[in-house]
Amino acid sequence: MKDPDYLIKVEKAIKEKYGDEAIQNPKANWDDEKEKDYLEQIKKSYKVRKEKEKIEVDGILMPKKLFIKDSDRTCPVCNTYSFSMKDDLYMTKFKCCFRCYIQHVEGREEKWQKSQKN
Ligand SMILES: [Zn+2]
Repeated sequence: MKDPDYLIKVEKAIKEKYGDEAIQNPKANWDDEKEKDYLEQIKKSYKVRKEKEKIEVDGILMPKKLFIKDSDRTCPVCNTYSFSMKDDLYMTKFKCCFRCYIQHVEGREEKWQKSQKN
């Protein structure tokens, strides 16, 4: 089990649904119906975990869905391919990487954004 909190989460979900009894002695008081529910519960938490998958960038965990497409990673100004989160930010905002931002955009953000639209 990779996530040490995983079992705790499942246990908590079961506890909320069936009360303490189910946790203390799962088998004794369980019928097939409850066991099916239990498995559903596990499947659901696994799915949620998948959806919340994260990528580590510069030591920071970021949700996968926040990431821009691979094709958008090349700066159109200097043609540098970047993996940096910092560049992502400037790429989204100014359509260029951080270095180009410093060189061409800083101090004249408004003009830059206007020229980008033309
Ligand atoms: Zn650039």
